[in-house]
Amino acid sequence: MSAKSFSIVTAAAMLILFQKTQLSVQAPLNGSKWSYIGPDGEKTWPKKYPFCGGVFQSPIDFHNDILQYDTTLLPLELVGYNVSSTDHFMLTNNGHSVRMSLFPTMHIRNLPFQYTATQLHLHWGNRNKPEGSEHTVSGRHFAAELHIVHYNSDKYPDVTAAIDKSDGLAVLAILIEIGPFNPSYEKIFSHFQNVKYKDQVALVPGFDIQELLPDQLDEYYRYEGSLTTPPCYPSVLWTVFRHPVKVSQEQASLTLETALYCTQPNDPAPLEMVNNFRDIQEFDERLVSVSFRQGVVLSVVLASVLGVIIMLAVAFWLLRKKNCKKEREDNRRVIYKPAFDKEDDNTSKV
Ligand SMILES: [Zn+2]
Repeated sequence: MSAKSFSIVTAAAMLILFQKTQLSVQAPLNGSKWSYIGPDGEKTWPKKYPFCGGVFQSPIDFHNDILQYDTTLLPLELVGYNVSSTDHFMLTNNGHSVRMSLFPTMHIRNLPFQYTATQLHLHWGNRNKPEGSEHTVSGRHFAAELHIVHYNSDKYPDVTAAIDKSDGLAVLAILIEIGPFNPSYEKIFSHFQNVKYKDQVALVPGFDIQELLPDQLDEYYRYEGSLTTPPCYPSVLWTVFRHPVKVSQEQASLTLETALYCTQPNDPAPLEMVNNFRDIQEFDERLVSVSFRQGVVLSVVLASVLGVIIMLAVAFWLLRKKNCKKEREDNRRVIYKPAFDKEDDNTSKV
């Protein structure tokens, strides 16, 4: 057995173990199932999963009223993200998304704890409405969103132990919009045909996962939220990068929006895997920290300028109204006097 085939066999064995672990993480205590539409759609999640109706829920909309510039937010440093092509990631269709397992050698530096990578997955829309990001910016959806999930390895032995703890998880979120062809995303997308149906599995040769992130790792939104799927534990320290990455229209529509199913191959009622994103959640009396200043300062400046313009316009309008009133009063006086003269004239003519 060559070293390469040994690596694949080891990966396959790890895959079975991984799937069992993940299933135990995902499976609810009462054995309920969930989906994005239909009788088990997200409106019903809180009945079976009480945290989904609780506090600190995600995703949210990032709008200027809730953003607060924070000088202590450092650029993220990603360690061990460049994985050799002789190692393999395991790609699984779990019936809700496509998930790729990651290696425990990958972790994030510059967070309050060390967070170790466990898996990544995507959320997307459909071919008629390719707006499937979970987080939105000023109400705007992006085409899709990538989540790279990490757990607090300083405090917990594995993701199962960390998943329901308030400091248990850290997720990096990358907003995806339509643009040129993206060869890095294609390293995952090209395997989607092998995980078309639920529970199917494929191996993806290692590559540098950092290629999936935007170039600027120093500009991001940071807040405390939750898993966006049941059981919705409020256990996630979110980092949503400000700058989106681009994939081509063809990559988005062929790969994400038409290629996959939530159901198994022999299911009599096949269900396309589309619109697998959760609605925006309420974000009352909380703030999102942002590591960048420009947008916030710009919006404050714009708001101030707009405020001054409106005040000037109102003042001008009031002044004009006052002048018009005065003019009308003056005119009345002016017209009143000659009216007699005119009448007199007319009378004299008659
Ligand atoms: Zn997600």
